[in-house]
Amino acid sequence: MKPQLILLGAPGSGKGTQAARLVSELSYTHISTGELLRSEISSGSELGNRVQSIMNEGKLVDDNTVLELLSSNCDLDTNAYIFDGFPRNIEQAKLLDDVLIKEHASKAVYFDIDLDKLAERLINRRTCDDCGEIYNLLSKAPKVEGVCDKCKGTNLAQRKDDNKETVVTRLEVFKNTIEPVLEYYESQGKLTRLDASKGADGVFEQLENTVKN
Ligand code: AMP
Repeated sequence: MKPQLILLGAPGSGKGTQAARLVSELSYTHISTGELLRSEISSGSELGNRVQSIMNEGKLVDDNTVLELLSSNCDLDTNAYIFDGFPRNIEQAKLLDDVLIKEHASKAVYFDIDLDKLAERLINRRTCDDCGEIYNLLSKAPKVEGVCDKCKGTNLAQRKDDNKETVVTRLEVFKNTIEPVLEYYESQGKLTRLDASKGADGVFEQLENTVKN
């Protein structure tokens, strides 16, 4: 089976866009803890209500809540996953190995990009609520304003936490937690650093090489 793939990178570094391509071209299964948490909020569950304000502030939800949600939504014996948004800190990296990855082969990929460019990218991000296609009003705007190129849906939404204030906190949280995670995977020889400023095709090429080699 293909290696389980752990995508590491700041919010807005392009993980979601690349994950969609890995699903359609390399048959991976995408699992995003941010999306799982947002679904809990939309469904009005107890968990969703508990995490809503934390997410709106751009802070991290506690490790065990996210791990449990992740565990109950994946089966590594039957699928090769792209883990998107988990782990966010060294504790989560260890939990992921101990609880889920265990003896399965895995690789970690870091989307390396100048963090100063990301705030603007995030604030201009829009996602199609119908098919999940991701746009950027500055660099990848839909051909017709407000209409998804892919499914023609008209629900191009801005994520609630893609506002200026929350974006600053999210990037700060990322800066404060990522280094030990990178060191953890690097020390095991599992880490590849990608140049995430290369544009979608350039980044995908690097990802494909990593998965296949
Ligand atoms: P994302 O969609 O990955 O940008 O995540 C959106 C928000 O969900 C984050 O700002 C956190 O509040 C929460 N979140 C997602 N994944 C995790 C995680 N692994 N640990 C803690 N909080 C998370």
